[in-house]
Amino acid sequence: MATVIKCAFCSGTGEDPFDLLSPISHCLVCNGTGQVVVEEPLKNCVFCSGTGKNPLGARVACIVCGGKGSNHIETPTPCTQCKGTGKSSDGLPCTRCRGKGYHGN
Ligand SMILES: [Zn+2]
Ligand SMILES: [Zn+2]
Ligand SMILES: [Zn+2]
Repeated sequence: MATVIKCAFCSGTGEDPFDLLSPISHCLVCNGTGQVVVEEPLKNCVFCSGTGKNPLGARVACIVCGGKGSNHIETPTPCTQCKGTGKSSDGLPCTRCRGKGYHGN
């Protein structure tokens, strides 16, 4: 089932969090609506800690959740490879769970 949540990338403001000087820059994740649609059941994105921002430092949306801050997690079984952190030893998304931290998706 799909549900509507607040866009994590812009904190629901609908504005680009990295381009505050331009009033016409809309959040690319939610298209300026401040809301995003995700499939349930969902969990906080472990890769970006639910912030929707890429933890690797680039001023872009999280590559795992796409900036939504949550991921669709069908089976909440922690990934054995990354121990549920979603990260590989090099800081990139875990290759097994693709950064979600859980198996079965
Ligand atoms: Zn947004
Ligand atoms: Zn994320
Ligand atoms: Zn993993």
